[in-house]
Amino acid sequence: MTWNLYDRLLGSAHADQSICIEKDDGATLTYAELAALTGRFANLLASHGIGPNHRVAAKAEKSVEAVALYLATLRSGAVYLPLNTAYTPAETEYFIRDAQPSLIVCDPKEASDLRAIAAKAGGRVETLDQDGYGSLVDAAAGLPADFDTVPRAKEDLAAILYTSGTTGRSKGAMLTHGNLVSNALTLVEQWRYTQRDVLIHALPIYHIHGLFVAGNVTFAARARMIFMQKFDAERIVAAMARSTVLMGVPTFYVRLLQSQNLSERTAAHMRLFVAGSAPLLAETHRAWNDRTGHEILERYGMTETGMIASNPYDGPRIPESVGRPLPAIDVRITDPESGAVLPTNEVGMIEVKGPNVFAGYWNMPDKTAAEFRADGFFITGDLGKLDANGYLYIVGRGKDLIITGGFNVYPKEIETEIDAIPGVFESAVVGVPHADFGEGVTAAVVRKAGSSVDERAILAALSGRLAKFKQPKRIIFVDALPRNAMGKIQKNLLRERFADLYSAKVE
Ligand code: ATP
Ligand code: MG
Repeated sequence: MTWNLYDRLLGSAHADQSICIEKDDGATLTYAELAALTGRFANLLASHGIGPNHRVAAKAEKSVEAVALYLATLRSGAVYLPLNTAYTPAETEYFIRDAQPSLIVCDPKEASDLRAIAAKAGGRVETLDQDGYGSLVDAAAGLPADFDTVPRAKEDLAAILYTSGTTGRSKGAMLTHGNLVSNALTLVEQWRYTQRDVLIHALPIYHIHGLFVAGNVTFAARARMIFMQKFDAERIVAAMARSTVLMGVPTFYVRLLQSQNLSERTAAHMRLFVAGSAPLLAETHRAWNDRTGHEILERYGMTETGMIASNPYDGPRIPESVGRPLPAIDVRITDPESGAVLPTNEVGMIEVKGPNVFAGYWNMPDKTAAEFRADGFFITGDLGKLDANGYLYIVGRGKDLIITGGFNVYPKEIETEIDAIPGVFESAVVGVPHADFGEGVTAAVVRKAGSSVDERAILAALSGRLAKFKQPKRIIFVDALPRNAMGKIQKNLLRERFADLYSAKVE
């Protein structure tokens, strides 16, 4: 049996006339058309000599052609390497040097930057669409639509996906066909995904969430996606009338709640709202339920592991919990120092083992070895706890843990208290170097529009609720928290910004 992800998801889709993708302009593409385009691209890749283990990098905006390139790369047996479209030339060069792709495919507007990079770092550049040099679309037009998909084994690489770089330099996670097949099929089953589903797809496709979660699950079920180039609350609310599922990051939901048009009536046709990639606040969960009558289903995953846990489709979806580990996936909580497994309800390092766990970091054997236990568990770097019913709670990232005066402080506990203070919109708590305490607990706070809540009022409110060592030394008001495209708060930027906050004061 071949494990090639393409065969598993779309091998039998070649005559399927149902719609796969609906574009921004309303034009549609059927599964049969997608399969044909994919076959032409795969023939083109083969004519470039691309086959097993070659890397094909893509720096392209979301499009049907970019999706077809991804699938064609799988078909040819090569390894797909999507690059964030927001990367600067210097960042892009780093990834090209690191991954050494044989072929780099990009949008025409990127072509000259990428050609300059390839001249130094290696690789051949082709544009996806016309740019005067010709393009893959043109070149593939005359090629046959049939292509014999190259068989792949479970452990063969399908993709190298760079992590979001929230805690440091992005690492290339090597994902196998087995990893991606198991995750897609599990989620179809868990989320009761069927051919009748219509997904509102407003995520980028260079990240695991938009490509392997939203994309692969839809392909696996032969469902339909409405592609939106970017997040637009009003367009999403309008699309709900003919859709069934939305997959988004928590900021999607916060922003959708600001739309006057969101209501129980506008969301009546929908059956599932999924959130992940960053923590969903309990307040958002409740507000969504009040307004639409739907409980958001929160889930937890990472680039290295795909999906780890999900709240149940049937059964209680618990705000602040990311649900239970998925079938065949083992999750345990360990003492970050000793590695000993901790009992229920104790906070520690989240470790995971299962068919979803990646094959290691590209070009980083030492880092890979350091992140795996001898018994095969992967150390996620996230802190959390499991309750008596097996629900997982994420408390934050290991790297964000604050050690102040010898005490451990979990930022989330402080953030939850600050967010509950009237006048506060949201907050992020970080540790900042402090001569006396090692790290000083410091809160960046965004006020609600029109609020004049000040530092004194917040500190006074917290003094009765938090032990002295947990109370922030300073509250810094900001207009907005720094977030990346996936809605993740970039705490490293806050730490940099506040780096000198205490050093100037302490003798
Ligand atoms: P890097 O590893 O480069 O620092 P990153 O960890 O942000 O970046 P991703 O793989 O995109 O890169 O994100 C995975 C992380 O996102 C998880 O380890 C976890 O910290 C966070 N995350 C995902 N889903 C949730 C969730 N539902 N609640 C809280 N955090 C989540
Ligand atoms: Mg990470």
